[in-house]
Amino acid sequence: MLEVKGISIAYGDLEVVKDVNFTVKGGETVSIVGESGSGKSTALRAVLGLLGNEGHITGGDITFDGVSLPALSPEEMRHYRGAVIASVPQQAGLSMDPITRLGKQFHESICTKEKISRKESDERAINCMRSLSLREPERLLRSYPGMLSGGTNQRVALAMAMVMEPRLILADEPTSALDVTVQVEVVRSMLALRHSCDAAILMVTHNMGVVAQMSDHVGVMYNGRLMEWGTREEVLGSPLHPYTRDLMASVLKMDGSVPDVKTIYREAVKGGCEYYTRCPHACDRCLGTIREKDYNGHRVLCVCAGEESDD
Ligand code: ADP
Ligand code: MG
Repeated sequence: MLEVKGISIAYGDLEVVKDVNFTVKGGETVSIVGESGSGKSTALRAVLGLLGNEGHITGGDITFDGVSLPALSPEEMRHYRGAVIASVPQQAGLSMDPITRLGKQFHESICTKEKISRKESDERAINCMRSLSLREPERLLRSYPGMLSGGTNQRVALAMAMVMEPRLILADEPTSALDVTVQVEVVRSMLALRHSCDAAILMVTHNMGVVAQMSDHVGVMYNGRLMEWGTREEVLGSPLHPYTRDLMASVLKMDGSVPDVKTIYREAVKGGCEYYTRCPHACDRCLGTIREKDYNGHRVLCVCAGEESDD
């Protein structure tokens, strides 16, 4: 569906995204991780056609169902934004109109795509908010963004993206401006979004818990380059790039504790040996299906058992 093909992007003369390739297939969730300044937001803004004046694409292409997005006129790109590709800002509370009630904001954004009554838009908004487990959606529609917490605004923004029934939702660090305790709520809503909405999700995040829980594919960026790309199981379960390994060892988990890399792998891979996170001999094979070995009635549930005769 979305193909980023050898894209390079520069601000002035400075290239900050270099020959990046990845795809987002219909309905899947792709996470891009990497430290600040690695070019993640720039890549996302390029998809939306929002690089601003200084930013320009210096090579490659971005296509959506075969249509080159950078080649579209600003008018055509406006049609894609919102109707086909929706985005969730990093701090929704700041990017929503502070003096317009949320119900009207829902109505106005739906009306850019299709003319419907306020009553109809309220109903759709309420349904979306309910499916993201937002409490008292009727009250939220009567509220101004400033009356709500950061976490609630962020979840309302997810509902606003969802109500547009887009094919792709872009989210740039949807949880990182929030307190850790609030992040959990937003993450739950993101998981609900993934399950109740057919849209693909392309997300930039620092939150490895989110990556482990909801990504189908993961891309790792460093200094403008995509260092590693693969399925969640490949990247988290058996990372090939040393940077990916370092990144996973250094990120904070959702609860704020320092994560155990093996725990993250295990969460990502779901399955494998129960003792994996604590076993000093754990290897990638331990994350596959473990078959019981039977040595004349002495049974053991370990892929490595019986192999350490050299030790
Ligand atoms: P990330 O989202 O991974 O933190 P960004 O895409 O925001 O990375 O930034 C990548 C690089 O581009 C950084 O070095 C940043 O300073 C630079 N940059 C980002 N936005 C602009 C801009 N509007 N003008 C000039 N340089 C920018
Ligand atoms: Mg960024």
